[in-house]
Amino acid sequence: MAEGIGQVIVTGGASGIGAGVCELLAARGQKVIVADRNREISAELIESLASKGINVSARRLDVSDPEAITQFYSSLLADGILATGLVNCAGINVRAGALDFKPSDWQKVMDVNLRGTALMAQGFAKALIREGRTGAIVNVASMLAHYGAPNLISYSASKGGVAMVTRSLAVEWASSGIRVNAVSPGYIQTSLTAKIFSIESYRHTIVRRTPLGRLGNPEDLARVVAFLISEDSRFVTGQIIPVDGGITAGDTALG
Ligand code: NAD
Repeated sequence: MAEGIGQVIVTGGASGIGAGVCELLAARGQKVIVADRNREISAELIESLASKGINVSARRLDVSDPEAITQFYSSLLADGILATGLVNCAGINVRAGALDFKPSDWQKVMDVNLRGTALMAQGFAKALIREGRTGAIVNVASMLAHYGAPNLISYSASKGGVAMVTRSLAVEWASSGIRVNAVSPGYIQTSLTAKIFSIESYRHTIVRRTPLGRLGNPEDLARVVAFLISEDSRFVTGQIIPVDGGITAGDTALG
C-alpha cells in the first residue's frame, strides 16, 4: 500500500475548476487522480499538463452511478492506492423555472451534484478508516447554497444539500481524523458558464456587482482548495467558504 498513499482524487477534474485544482495540486507535488466521466477531455488535460512538465493520472468515473463509485474504490484498492484527499468538483446544471421543471431533470442534477458527492465521500472515508489513516475532503458548493436565484431550483437545492452534507460529514468523521469543508464558487469562467458570460451586458452586470471587480478563474478556486486539502487548514472542518470576489459579503448597488 505504501506506494500509493497520499493521492488526491478530483472528480470532474478534466475541465474548468476541477482541471485548475488538478494543475495546482500536481504542480505543488501532489499525486492527483482525475476522476471524470469524459474520457476525451481527461486525455486532453493530461496531454496539456504533460507539456508543462506536470503529471496526473486519470480514471473514467460517472459519479451519478453508485455501482461505478463502488468499482472505482475497489480498483484503487486493487492497485494499492489509498487516497488521503478528495475534491468533489463534478457538477451539472439544468436550467428550469419552478413552475415547469421536469422530475427527470431534477433527479439528474441531484444524482450528480448531491448523491455523487455523498457517495464519493463515503467510499473515500471507508477506505481511510479501514487503513487507520486520516484525510481531507473538499466539496464544491456554490453561491446558490447561500442565496436563491430564479430558474435554478434543482441546482440551488443540490448545492444547499452539498453544504449540509459537508457539515454533517465533518461532525460525524471528525473523530476519525477526516476533515470535510466546501468552497462556494462565485462567477467563474469555465465551460459551464461560457454561454452566459459571452453575453456582454450580462458579463458587465456581474463584474459591476462583484466587489473585487472581475470574474473568477479556476486558479482562484484551486488556491483555496489546496489550502483546505493541506495541513495548513488542520483545525478547520465543516466550513463552507465563498470564493466569489466578495459577492456574498454585500450589495455593491447600495454604494
Ligand atoms: P465544467 O463543466 O467546466 O466541469 C465540470 C466537470 O465535471 C466536467 O469535466 C464534466 O465532464 C464533469 N462531470 C459532469 N458530470 C459528471 C459525472 N456524472 N461524473 C463525473 N464527472 C462529471 O464546470 P465548472 O464550472 O468547472 O464546475 C465545477 C464545479 O463548480 C461544479 O460542481 C459546479 O456546480 C461548481 N460551480 C461552478 C461555478 C462557475 O461559475 N463556473 C459557480 C458555482 C459552482
